[in-house]
Amino acid sequence: MKALGPIPQGYALIDGELAIAGRRASDLVAEAGQTPLFIYSSQHLRRRVQTLRAAMPDRLALHYAVKANSFGPLLSLMGELVDGFDIASGGELALASAAGIDAQRISFAGPGKTDTELTAAITAGVTLNLESEGEAERAITIADRLGHVPRLAVRVNPDFDLKGSGMKMGGGAKPFGVDVDRVPALARRIIGSGAEWRGFHIFAGSQSLDSDAICDTQAETLRLAARLAMESGVPLPHCNLGGGFGIPYFPGDEPIDLGLIGARLAEQFAALPDLLKETRFSIELGRYLVGEAGVYLTRIVDRKISHGEIYLIVDGGLHHQLAASGNFGTVVRRNYPVAIASRFDVQAEEEASVVGCLCTPLDRLADKAGFPRADVGDLVAVFCAGAYGPSASPAQFLGHGPARELLV
Ligand SMILES: *Cc1c(COP(=O)(O)O)cnc(C)c1O
Repeated sequence: MKALGPIPQGYALIDGELAIAGRRASDLVAEAGQTPLFIYSSQHLRRRVQTLRAAMPDRLALHYAVKANSFGPLLSLMGELVDGFDIASGGELALASAAGIDAQRISFAGPGKTDTELTAAITAGVTLNLESEGEAERAITIADRLGHVPRLAVRVNPDFDLKGSGMKMGGGAKPFGVDVDRVPALARRIIGSGAEWRGFHIFAGSQSLDSDAICDTQAETLRLAARLAMESGVPLPHCNLGGGFGIPYFPGDEPIDLGLIGARLAEQFAALPDLLKETRFSIELGRYLVGEAGVYLTRIVDRKISHGEIYLIVDGGLHHQLAASGNFGTVVRRNYPVAIASRFDVQAEEEASVVGCLCTPLDRLADKAGFPRADVGDLVAVFCAGAYGPSASPAQFLGHGPARELLV
């Protein structure tokens, strides 16, 4: 029997069923009118942001990385909760604008920004985190033609990366950011062009559960920002320190120590060099803000046995939950937190695998784990579904279409 990941805090039991934001899973499904269904809890989102703000220095602004979850109602709520938004495409700019988010609060990173995307972003007043010298020249030319003063920052390809990181984004050759030794010249070029200089964006990795490594990376990021500001010859207006705060997905994972990270960052803020005394700092988080606030509910449509193994076959799958199936940036497949939502009070009675309805052996939501005896009609909950669900899954694959989404 294989273990399941840890169920996040904040989920309760009502009448034997999983309850999300105080409501029974079956009632939420009835309201949505169908499974598969993503439920996002606004209570959970608010609490997460409060906890984070309480632990971090006041000086640190909180940005949300839209690619984790771009569901409109969730984006609107995040608009009330966080300071800034990081987008990675013109499509995300349109989604953020539709959710009522002011472009002045948005920064745009990501390689391969097209002229169309640059034009839309500069027109709206979005800050561009430039990924190369070529992109910088295109942005300056487009802004000239539009008669706008563009808001430009440089994304730095740091010469270190975040240890324990699920996805390495820095250290060595990368498609992201400008190599450290070329950053000062580019910064001077941007400032000389008359653009509004917005500073640096330094992102060293994602999904780390190693609090010491996060602290060390933040310290290294601040040292690098100070060095680059000195070599650029101007005070640093803004510095995005990246993110990387992970959440526990798998058996044995432990949450990060926010208190430690906040305290260490406050110490570093207290000892900044002069060129960084007035700098506004931010971190950008995706999954840490929204991941644990989401649950994916899917219904068992068949129960079958093959060579003695039990399969619970559900109406959802990897077309909504690529990450839970183990096919989004993981090397070894391990089980997410998964439960039978309609028998949430029953102990494990048998070993079963929860598989999706797609015709591929990759479509597995839980592998040989312990569950109460479940049958056709029961609801399965996949937790940690608030980030990289619909936004990172191939919804068109095999024609089942997208899942419903509901913010409660
Ligand atoms: C993906 C991404 C994030 C968000 O990562 P999480 O692991 O979801 O916090 C933040 N910044 C950049 C530049 C990214 O590419």
